[in-house]
Amino acid sequence: MTQVVQPTKIVCIGRNYAAHAKELGNEVPPEPLIFLKPPSAMLAPGAAIVLPHQSRRVEHEAEIGVVIGTRAKDVSEEDALAHVAGFTCVNDVTARDLQKTDGQWTRAKGFDTFCPIGPQVVAGLDWRGLEVICRVNGIVRQHGHARDMMYGIPRLVSYVSGIMTLEPGDVIATGTPEGVGPLEPGDLVEVEIPGIGLLANPVTGKGTP
Ligand code: ZN
Repeated sequence: MTQVVQPTKIVCIGRNYAAHAKELGNEVPPEPLIFLKPPSAMLAPGAAIVLPHQSRRVEHEAEIGVVIGTRAKDVSEEDALAHVAGFTCVNDVTARDLQKTDGQWTRAKGFDTFCPIGPQVVAGLDWRGLEVICRVNGIVRQHGHARDMMYGIPRLVSYVSGIMTLEPGDVIATGTPEGVGPLEPGDLVEVEIPGIGLLANPVTGKGTP
Protein backbone atom coordinates (compact mmCIF):
# COMPACT_ATOMS: atom_id res chain seq x y z
CA MET A 1 0.00 0.00 0.00
CA THR A 2 1.26 3.50 -0.74
CA GLN A 3 1.49 6.40 1.71
CA VAL A 4 -1.86 7.90 2.63
CA VAL A 5 -0.52 11.43 3.23
CA GLN A 6 2.36 13.50 1.85
CA PRO A 7 3.39 15.82 4.69
CA THR A 8 6.09 18.49 4.53
CA LYS A 9 6.55 17.77 8.22
CA ILE A 10 5.29 15.51 10.99
CA VAL A 11 4.88 17.40 14.25
CA CYS A 12 4.66 15.27 17.37
CA ILE A 13 3.43 16.12 20.83
CA GLY A 14 5.27 14.74 23.85
CA ARG A 15 3.71 13.91 27.22
CA ASN A 16 0.16 14.82 26.26
CA TYR A 17 -1.43 12.18 28.51
CA ALA A 18 -0.67 12.51 32.22
CA ALA A 19 -0.54 8.74 32.83
CA HIS A 20 2.05 8.27 30.07
CA ALA A 21 4.23 11.15 31.31
CA LYS A 22 4.17 9.49 34.71
CA GLU A 23 5.09 6.01 33.43
CA LEU A 24 8.31 7.45 31.96
CA GLY A 25 8.99 9.47 35.11
CA ASN A 26 8.27 12.85 33.51
CA GLU A 27 6.26 15.85 34.62
CA VAL A 28 3.36 17.09 32.51
CA PRO A 29 4.70 20.07 30.51
CA PRO A 30 3.24 23.55 31.24
CA GLU A 31 2.54 24.02 27.52
CA PRO A 32 2.56 21.53 24.62
CA LEU A 33 5.97 19.90 24.09
CA ILE A 34 6.66 19.49 20.38
CA PHE A 35 9.25 17.72 18.26
CA LEU A 36 9.55 16.67 14.61
CA LYS A 37 9.79 13.36 12.81
CA PRO A 38 11.20 13.51 9.27
CA PRO A 39 8.83 12.55 6.44
CA SER A 40 11.49 10.00 5.42
CA ALA A 41 10.46 7.99 8.51
CA MET A 42 6.99 7.38 7.09
CA LEU A 43 5.87 3.82 6.52
CA ALA A 44 2.87 2.54 4.60
CA PRO A 45 0.29 0.25 6.21
CA GLY A 46 1.47 -3.34 6.09
CA ALA A 47 5.13 -2.49 5.54
CA ALA A 48 7.79 -3.59 8.02
CA ILE A 49 9.22 -1.55 10.88
CA VAL A 50 12.98 -2.20 10.81
CA LEU A 51 14.70 -2.27 14.20
CA PRO A 52 17.97 -0.33 13.80
CA HIS A 53 21.23 -1.86 15.01
CA GLN A 54 21.99 1.35 16.93
CA SER A 55 19.21 0.73 19.47
CA ARG A 56 18.59 -1.98 22.05
CA ARG A 57 15.03 -0.91 22.87
CA VAL A 58 12.49 0.23 20.29
CA GLU A 59 8.95 0.95 21.51
CA HIS A 60 5.53 1.54 19.98
CA GLU A 61 3.56 4.74 20.63
CA ALA A 62 -0.02 4.57 19.31
CA GLU A 63 -1.36 8.04 18.56
CA ILE A 64 -4.24 9.93 16.97
CA GLY A 65 -2.94 11.76 13.90
CA VAL A 66 -4.38 15.09 12.74
CA VAL A 67 -4.03 15.73 8.99
CA ILE A 68 -4.04 19.37 7.92
CA GLY A 69 -6.38 20.28 5.06
CA THR A 70 -5.70 23.97 4.47
CA ARG A 71 -2.70 26.14 5.30
CA ALA A 72 -2.73 27.20 8.95
CA LYS A 73 -0.66 30.05 10.36
CA ASP A 74 -1.48 31.71 13.69
CA VAL A 75 -4.96 30.22 13.78
CA SER A 76 -7.10 30.48 16.89
CA GLU A 77 -8.42 27.47 18.77
CA GLU A 78 -11.88 28.41 17.51
CA ASP A 79 -10.74 28.30 13.86
CA ALA A 80 -8.34 25.37 14.20
CA LEU A 81 -10.64 22.51 13.21
CA ALA A 82 -11.57 24.30 9.96
CA HIS A 83 -7.96 23.65 8.87
CA VAL A 84 -8.14 19.91 9.59
CA ALA A 85 -8.83 17.45 6.75
CA GLY A 86 -9.37 14.51 9.08
CA PHE A 87 -7.80 12.04 11.44
CA THR A 88 -5.71 8.92 11.02
CA CYS A 89 -3.63 6.39 12.99
CA VAL A 90 0.05 7.05 13.72
CA ASN A 91 2.67 4.87 15.37
CA ASP A 92 5.40 7.16 16.77
CA VAL A 93 8.02 4.40 16.92
CA THR A 94 10.80 5.40 19.32
CA ALA A 95 14.26 4.13 20.20
CA ARG A 96 13.75 4.63 23.93
CA ASP A 97 17.38 4.08 24.92
CA LEU A 98 18.64 6.67 22.43
CA GLN A 99 15.91 9.13 23.47
CA LYS A 100 17.34 9.00 26.98
CA THR A 101 21.04 9.14 26.09
CA ASP A 102 20.97 11.70 23.25
CA GLY A 103 19.39 14.59 25.17
CA GLN A 104 17.25 15.48 22.15
CA TRP A 105 15.07 13.19 20.18
CA THR A 106 15.94 13.48 16.49
CA ARG A 107 17.78 10.16 16.25
CA ALA A 108 15.45 8.24 18.59
CA LYS A 109 12.37 9.31 16.63
CA GLY A 110 13.82 9.68 13.14
CA PHE A 111 14.93 6.29 11.83
CA ASP A 112 13.50 5.12 8.52
CA THR A 113 10.26 3.13 9.06
CA PHE A 114 9.64 4.78 12.48
CA CYS A 115 6.41 6.50 11.41
CA PRO A 116 3.65 4.19 10.18
CA ILE A 117 0.62 6.29 9.17
CA GLY A 118 -2.81 5.18 7.90
CA PRO A 119 -4.72 3.24 6.68
CA GLN A 120 -6.85 6.22 5.68
CA VAL A 121 -7.77 9.78 6.63
CA VAL A 122 -11.33 10.12 7.87
CA ALA A 123 -13.16 13.46 7.97
CA GLY A 124 -16.13 14.53 10.01
CA LEU A 125 -15.36 12.81 13.31
CA ASP A 126 -15.70 14.55 16.67
CA TRP A 127 -12.14 14.43 18.03
CA ARG A 128 -13.38 14.35 21.63
CA GLY A 129 -14.92 10.91 21.05
CA LEU A 130 -11.81 9.32 19.52
CA GLU A 131 -9.94 6.50 21.19
CA VAL A 132 -6.73 4.80 20.19
CA ILE A 133 -5.76 1.19 20.84
CA CYS A 134 -2.40 -0.54 20.38
CA ARG A 135 -2.02 -4.31 20.14
CA VAL A 136 1.16 -6.32 19.80
CA ASN A 137 0.58 -9.87 18.54
CA GLY A 138 -3.10 -9.41 19.36
CA ILE A 139 -2.56 -8.35 22.98
CA VAL A 140 -3.74 -4.87 24.00
CA ARG A 141 -0.83 -2.70 25.20
CA GLN A 142 -2.41 0.77 25.05
CA HIS A 143 -5.96 2.10 25.11
CA GLY A 144 -6.34 5.86 25.36
CA HIS A 145 -9.10 8.40 24.94
CA ALA A 146 -8.72 11.81 23.31
CA ARG A 147 -10.72 13.35 26.13
CA ASP A 148 -7.80 12.53 28.44
CA MET A 149 -5.31 14.64 26.47
CA MET A 150 -3.71 17.44 28.45
CA TYR A 151 -4.00 19.68 25.39
CA GLY A 152 -6.87 18.98 23.02
CA ILE A 153 -6.66 18.96 19.25
CA PRO A 154 -7.85 22.58 18.66
CA ARG A 155 -5.24 23.81 21.14
CA LEU A 156 -2.51 21.74 19.49
CA VAL A 157 -3.29 22.95 15.96
CA SER A 158 -3.46 26.56 17.18
CA TYR A 159 -0.26 26.22 19.21
CA VAL A 160 1.82 24.62 16.45
CA SER A 161 0.48 27.08 13.83
CA GLY A 162 1.83 29.90 15.98
CA ILE A 163 5.32 28.45 15.57
CA MET A 164 5.42 27.02 12.04
CA THR A 165 3.03 27.28 9.11
CA LEU A 166 1.09 24.05 8.72
CA GLU A 167 0.67 23.00 5.09
CA PRO A 168 -1.98 20.70 3.60
CA GLY A 169 -0.97 17.09 4.26
CA ASP A 170 1.10 17.92 7.34
CA VAL A 171 0.49 15.60 10.27
CA ILE A 172 0.31 16.33 13.99
CA ALA A 173 0.76 13.20 16.11
CA THR A 174 -1.07 14.09 19.30
CA GLY A 175 0.87 12.10 21.87
CA THR A 176 0.61 8.59 23.22
CA PRO A 177 -1.36 7.23 26.16
CA GLU A 178 0.17 4.97 28.80
CA GLY A 179 1.30 1.44 28.04
CA VAL A 180 4.26 1.95 25.70
CA GLY A 181 6.46 -1.11 25.42
CA PRO A 182 9.14 -2.86 23.38
CA LEU A 183 8.94 -4.30 19.89
CA GLU A 184 10.84 -7.43 18.87
CA PRO A 185 11.57 -9.00 15.48
CA GLY A 186 8.58 -11.05 14.38
CA ASP A 187 6.02 -8.93 16.22
CA LEU A 188 2.92 -7.54 14.55
CA VAL A 189 1.97 -4.11 15.92
CA GLU A 190 -1.47 -2.66 15.33
CA VAL A 191 -2.79 0.85 15.99
CA GLU A 192 -6.56 1.08 15.78
CA ILE A 193 -8.86 4.07 16.03
CA PRO A 194 -12.50 2.96 15.89
CA GLY A 195 -14.18 4.85 13.06
CA ILE A 196 -10.90 5.24 11.18
CA GLY A 197 -9.37 1.79 10.85
CA LEU A 198 -6.46 -0.45 11.68
CA LEU A 199 -2.81 0.34 10.97
CA ALA A 200 -0.88 -2.94 11.08
CA ASN A 201 2.88 -3.32 10.60
CA PRO A 202 5.20 -6.29 11.11
CA VAL A 203 8.54 -5.77 12.84
CA THR A 204 11.86 -7.02 11.51
CA GLY A 205 15.39 -6.78 12.85
CA LYS A 206 18.38 -5.78 10.78
CA GLY A 207 19.91 -8.89 9.31
CA THR A 208 16.82 -11.04 9.86
CA PRO A 209 14.89 -12.16 6.78
ZN1 ZN B 1 4.80 10.03 20.61
